[in-house]
Amino acid sequence: MNRAVWLRTAAIVTCLAGWSTAPAPSRAAANPFLATSTLPFQAPRFDLIHDSDYQPAFLLGMKAQRAEIRAIAANPAAPTFDNTIVAMERSGRMLDRVSETFYGVYQANTNPTLDKAQAAIAPLLAQHQDAIYLDPELFARVQAIYATRATLKLDPEQAQLLEIYHQQFVHAGAQLPDRDKATLRRLNTRLSTLETVFQQKLLTATKAGALVVSDKTALAGLDTAAIAAAASAAHDRGLAGKWVLPLQNTTQQPALQTLENRDTRKALFTNGWLRAERGDAGDTRATIAELAQLRAQKAALLGYPDYASYVLYDQMARTPDAVQHFIAQLVPATLAEQKREVADIQSAIRKDGKDFQPEPWDWQLYAEQVRKAQYDLDQDQVKPYFELDTVLRDGVFFAANQLYGISFKERKDIPVYNPDIRVFEVSDKDGSPLALIYFDYFKRDNKNGGAWMSNFVGQSHLLGTKPVVYNVANFTKPAPGQPALISFEDVTTMFHEFGHALHGMFADQTYPTLSGTAVARDFVEFPSQFNEHWALDPTVFAHYAKHYQTGAPMPQVLVDKIKKAARFNQGYALGEIITAAKLDMDWHMIKPGTPRQDVDWFEAASMDRMGLDTKDVPTRYRSSYFLHIWANGYAAGYYAYLWTEMLDDAAFAWFRAHGGLTRENGQRFRDMILSRGHTQDYGPMFRAFYGKDPDITPMLRHRGLIPGDE
Ligand SMILES: [Zn+2]
Repeated sequence: MNRAVWLRTAAIVTCLAGWSTAPAPSRAAANPFLATSTLPFQAPRFDLIHDSDYQPAFLLGMKAQRAEIRAIAANPAAPTFDNTIVAMERSGRMLDRVSETFYGVYQANTNPTLDKAQAAIAPLLAQHQDAIYLDPELFARVQAIYATRATLKLDPEQAQLLEIYHQQFVHAGAQLPDRDKATLRRLNTRLSTLETVFQQKLLTATKAGALVVSDKTALAGLDTAAIAAAASAAHDRGLAGKWVLPLQNTTQQPALQTLENRDTRKALFTNGWLRAERGDAGDTRATIAELAQLRAQKAALLGYPDYASYVLYDQMARTPDAVQHFIAQLVPATLAEQKREVADIQSAIRKDGKDFQPEPWDWQLYAEQVRKAQYDLDQDQVKPYFELDTVLRDGVFFAANQLYGISFKERKDIPVYNPDIRVFEVSDKDGSPLALIYFDYFKRDNKNGGAWMSNFVGQSHLLGTKPVVYNVANFTKPAPGQPALISFEDVTTMFHEFGHALHGMFADQTYPTLSGTAVARDFVEFPSQFNEHWALDPTVFAHYAKHYQTGAPMPQVLVDKIKKAARFNQGYALGEIITAAKLDMDWHMIKPGTPRQDVDWFEAASMDRMGLDTKDVPTRYRSSYFLHIWANGYAAGYYAYLWTEMLDDAAFAWFRAHGGLTRENGQRFRDMILSRGHTQDYGPMFRAFYGKDPDITPMLRHRGLIPGDE
């Protein structure tokens, strides 16, 4: 659930850019972004790119696109779909190249030079986008074409493209009077700066929040590998002889599942809980308060009651009320499940000979004991069956081959930005080249938390480009020469991110704006969460879950335990996400003119209104480290993970009812969903596949919150 596809908030800018008309200054003549890459699939030239190339390439790319856009706006010929809309789709190629490559590397492998480039470039990109969308001559052309759309004989993809351009111009403020446009420009620049400030503060805070342990006995409960990893992390930070437990970007930390020393647990949890509230350079609260206030102002300027309404206009859910209603529907079943779980946790604590009330730093440890007692599943028992390479080849790739007929071949000749990364060429069912995919799976200190997917090159028939996509995660890197044995949750993450990759690789659009994963947030997690289901499909599972030493299949009794355990702790798991989704909506339903909020007070009030016991089950992300909503384009959009869960459970129920893992079913899903991009509205697209609207029943059933087979 925590996996995030990363989408640029300014995705349209990356679909508008260009270098061909820009006179390149001679000192930048060697900039590798000036020319289209000559590598297969136009893969990024990581063999040629230096960190210092990005910033000048951004400047050149923006300059070039501004010239292209000016030429379109000032074209003396009457506006046509071709000389305006298609021309914009063709523009900005250099900016595309640099931004797609830069953001891929910046998120996964940053350094001070890239941080500096991002801080300098982000506000300029926001201004660049404004310069396009707030250009009155350009909007007049779009408006004129839009007014005559009924007579233009556009095909459905063209009609959708025109509709979206028009909406985006209006949404960006093209219809505002000049004075308001100037205000909007200032707001956008400030918002973009604040988002970058938030992200950089959080990276600092997360790194500084790692728990340093001087006494090995305080780590009792961690296994040998985890202790070795902690020693190695300490060594990397110049703390040889100590142990370091780095923070994950969530409230709960993996080590809390096994740490036996309650003081260590409390210290690790508290380090995480307060990571960005220390009153130091990593404190994000002032940044957040200003972001929320300015977003409300921006919404008001554009005629919306709040920022959530402004954001949701083009989503599947459409309105904040629809989202709040959806969240509220999930609360009763979740609360009932949480009450059962708290009782189990309390009795596990008593069985352990203790008499304290459970605190959040106790939950994971005792949940693990309840799991062992009632579900009898030990991670150490299952991990030897999940060796990363085998899961990838015989699980993730195998399922895709069975469903879609595609195949994979590793390419060692494609340059990468870090030696851990692996690249595969993907062939379509008829053997023709389909895409290139990069996997960057291992945790690094300079990588953002979580997991995500995006494109280095987007698919477009107009531009003649095929998809180049990547999956990034934060799995623990094994010691040199050791196999990477991962948890079933990590396995699920691999299937999840690969589901996004399929959505990107099966893209079959003419226009880049509508291509692949360029869809609404409350739809984009549907293909990825849907793909997670195959991890437990009996045929797929038997094919990849083999002991890394003996090759023996996982014993059926263990398989059954994994399936059963997948339904364990669901009150907690769903509760922490519902709470985060509610917190996000509340922050973005602040009314314009409201003074800056005290972050801790606001958060506590949101929790109180929730109707769940958030003392036992704290939010998955506090406001102060909620990266999704403050910097990653998920503002008023975190609910999307749950909304799309409703979609993916419904779609998988359809597969089960129609024979499961077959080429025929896969082809139908590819044809009706995965290859469609945003060429259609989401409601009709989903209904066409599923035969009706989705509801929450398959989702609650899948989570085991209501009885019945999923
Ligand atoms: Zn995702």
